Amino acid sequence: MKLQAPENELLTKSAAQLAALIKAGEVSSREVVAAHLQRIADVEPQVHAFLSVDAERALAAADRVDAKRMNSEPLGSLAGVPLAMKDNYAYQGLPCTCGSRMLEGWYPPYDATVTKRLLENDIIILGKTNLDEFAMGSATENSAFGVTCNPHDLERIPGGSGGGSAASLAAFEAPLAVGSDTGGSIRQPASVTGTIGIKPTYGGISRFGIVALASSLDAPGPCARTVMDAALLHQTMAGYDRLDSVSINAPIPAAQAAASNPDLRGLKLGVVKEFTGEWFQSGVMGQFDQALTHLVAQGAEIVEVSCPHFEVAMGANFLIMAAEISSNMAKFDAVRYGLRSGDDGQHSAQQVTSLSRGAGFGAEVKRRILLGTHALSTGHYEALYGSALKVRTLVIQDFDAAFSKVDVLVSPTSPVTAWKIGERSADPLTTHHADLCTVPSNLAGNCAGSFPIGVSADDGLPVGFQVIAPAMGDALLYRVGAGLENAFGVTGEVL
Ligand code: GLN
Repeated sequence: MKLQAPENELLTKSAAQLAALIKAGEVSSREVVAAHLQRIADVEPQVHAFLSVDAERALAAADRVDAKRMNSEPLGSLAGVPLAMKDNYAYQGLPCTCGSRMLEGWYPPYDATVTKRLLENDIIILGKTNLDEFAMGSATENSAFGVTCNPHDLERIPGGSGGGSAASLAAFEAPLAVGSDTGGSIRQPASVTGTIGIKPTYGGISRFGIVALASSLDAPGPCARTVMDAALLHQTMAGYDRLDSVSINAPIPAAQAAASNPDLRGLKLGVVKEFTGEWFQSGVMGQFDQALTHLVAQGAEIVEVSCPHFEVAMGANFLIMAAEISSNMAKFDAVRYGLRSGDDGQHSAQQVTSLSRGAGFGAEVKRRILLGTHALSTGHYEALYGSALKVRTLVIQDFDAAFSKVDVLVSPTSPVTAWKIGERSADPLTTHHADLCTVPSNLAGNCAGSFPIGVSADDGLPVGFQVIAPAMGDALLYRVGAGLENAFGVTGEVL
């Protein structure tokens, strides 16, 4: 069953439209925020996109924006517009659970750099959204706090790990959201919910204050329903941050300009030959081919390219991710953060750590810590972690070769549409194939985004189109995205 579409017109407007109305004084930020809070109250029993909602602070922040406008103070491009935040971003005053019992009720003592930038730009944070535990998963089924449902069919998954953020957009609970992408966790949820999700160039948006999954792969990014909204949010989030050691000190991508000029003439799109075959649903390929036809009609040229190592990228991404997870998760030791079990005077400190980790982490987190520890252990290091690093280099070389021939690469984002809740949970390997097309960009650190291209002919569910650009080429994503939006319209407009 589909979620019912909202009646209040404010809910179906884009963030850019809302910001313009607020700036012109035609609607107050309070009205916009209140409408979204009401929508959240109405549909959350069915969707469960949020883990916490911050109504009071959101309304107070909206009042401050309205007061600024009354005083003719300058307002940013998205001032007064509400946003949903993935619950692995630090935002003081709200818990940061990462979807885990381990961090249940943990309040971060500082704000993430992105959080700060959102607040400084008068974007209103509505609350925190559901995710797979510590962002490990592709269906939001690994959250310790229950699954999120896909607004296009409430019996289906919203993708993962950022299923809550994507579902909040598709459900019209928020016009903007933020996510984090380590193997596809922004793009794949966007794909299966018919929304937009961008993984920026690694280092383009600060990771400071976002709970680390795999530090060499993590990329925070914007989620939205229109290309322009994603572009405006991207520019707000991006830029150098001395608190993130890999932050790039370079100009912010000209995303807004690219989003408003969908001129595809002279642009070479490389179709990745390896991204077809048994894992790809026929209805997904059908929409993908149709999208290519539209892009050609708008002036783009199609070239077939081969990236032979993309086929083994998934294994490499998984091993590197697990290795970094085994290290990043070590800090959850019952001393510094969160859950403490067995602290009753009967157990040693070591036993308390192990009881707490046993109780606090779910099955997928434990599986990855074990795998990563194994991959890094003496005797296995070269064969497992070492081989994965070599594959990473080969994937980077594939990208370099491809980008010497074309401007961007294109593929379906997810090989399949949203599956039924529970259908794949017993089989982590099949679930993982949802990331087939997204993981190479995390390994190489270049940027990629997913854009909606209508629904699959075989099941009527949303299909996403992935655009992959070279590092620092983020603006190109928005240019192609604008071309796709021209052809398919803003799919969020009607559910
Ligand atoms: N779905 C992938 C996984 O399970 C991606 C994770 C992510 O990007 N955070 O690991």
